[in-house]
Amino acid sequence: MKTRRKRDLPQKTCPVCKRPFAWRRKWAKDWDRVVYCSARCKRQARASASSKSA
Ligand SMILES: [Zn+2]
Repeated sequence: MKTRRKRDLPQKTCPVCKRPFAWRRKWAKDWDRVVYCSARCKRQARASASSKSA
């Protein structure tokens, strides 16, 4: 029986678009800090947060 994994990369779920995203090399240094799947989602999160607090 083969139990062969694909790439065993860590994953997270983006709180903005609710989609899972996998580790990328560009995040190697600060994967722990990565919350959003993309800069776009990051901006969107910040935009919505700031509009609420205002
Ligand atoms: Zn996202």
